[in-house]
Amino acid sequence: MNVAKTMENLKKRGFTVSYFDTAAQAADYLDRSIDSQSVGVGGSVTLRDMGVYEKLAAHNEVFWQWYAPEGTSQEETYRKAERADVYLSSVNAIAETGEILNIDGTGNRVAATLYGHKKLYLVTGINKIAADYDAALWRARNIASPKNAQRLQKKTPCALRGDKCYDCSSPDRICRGLVVLWEPVKGIGETEVVLIGETLGY
Ligand code: SF4
Repeated sequence: MNVAKTMENLKKRGFTVSYFDTAAQAADYLDRSIDSQSVGVGGSVTLRDMGVYEKLAAHNEVFWQWYAPEGTSQEETYRKAERADVYLSSVNAIAETGEILNIDGTGNRVAATLYGHKKLYLVTGINKIAADYDAALWRARNIASPKNAQRLQKKTPCALRGDKCYDCSSPDRICRGLVVLWEPVKGIGETEVVLIGETLGY
């Protein structure tokens, strides 16, 4: 994948872009940049593996369903995350041409990338970069989604076989909505793509 071309095209589209060689450097950057804020986080293996919760929760109010206090409903955490000053998510794919793609089942994560925050961080390893929009869509559907379905132990053909998307009609289907960011949306103050030169998440 061509990281320099990806960064250039993201910037041309109006995204703020930062790059770090390692996940640890990127986690330190987020820790320095986000202070005394309310922070929402979508389900993200990338952000979990970076240890972002432990860092940010020490000096911010963080709403992330994977770390919600016992007794807190998932719905309540989603609502608080939607209203947070800052929102963090990873992505399912980025095209070298600059489009950013996310597929969601519940919809909380993709909804939060579209409106209402002072700042949105999209944090991703360079393994999510694809050559163009079509390749990015293929990646999101055939690599990211089946792996997420396996992680969530869904009863879907992709989770059972682990090879590709079957465009299933399973009640357990996790791919129910696709959001493509062609440019930063106007309803969010700033959207920053944090690229990391490692393989992270799916
Ligand atoms: S549509 Fe169904 S088969 Fe395809 S990736 Fe999503 S859950 Fe798996």
